Amino acid sequence: MARRYSAQKQIIEDTLAKMDHPTAAEVYEEIRKAYPQISLGTVYRNLGLMADDGEILRLSFPDAPDRFDPNAHEHYHVSCSRCGRIFDTDRTFPSELVRQVDRAVEACTGVRVESRVMMFRGVCAACRSGRA
Ligand SMILES: [Zn+2]
Ligand SMILES: [Zn+2]
Repeated sequence: MARRYSAQKQIIEDTLAKMDHPTAAEVYEEIRKAYPQISLGTVYRNLGLMADDGEILRLSFPDAPDRFDPNAHEHYHVSCSRCGRIFDTDRTFPSELVRQVDRAVEACTGVRVESRVMMFRGVCAACRSGRA
């Protein structure tokens, strides 16, 4: 049982690594092409566990399904409000800027910041040029 679980987890991990911030349903659809016997519940459960363990990132949205990211290191995202695509910002911000924001958050809330989840929104280059 344990072996089967980890084999499935490996497949899910490998599939996620090839995708661009997919939802659990999108990961499932991709895996199903090669492993039709896998269940949506298995994919959901494994992605949830991996996110809880900090092996992958879970990106949550108020009005849409969670998306998953194999890069578990802190990095920030921008989503296109027209096509919905999620982009990685290609570098994190200068650490002095991040510290300034952390201090501003602590000053107004008293919370000492340990990590950040930042989501920017805008219109991507493809949508702006009408190519999307
Ligand atoms: Zn777009
Ligand atoms: Zn990302």
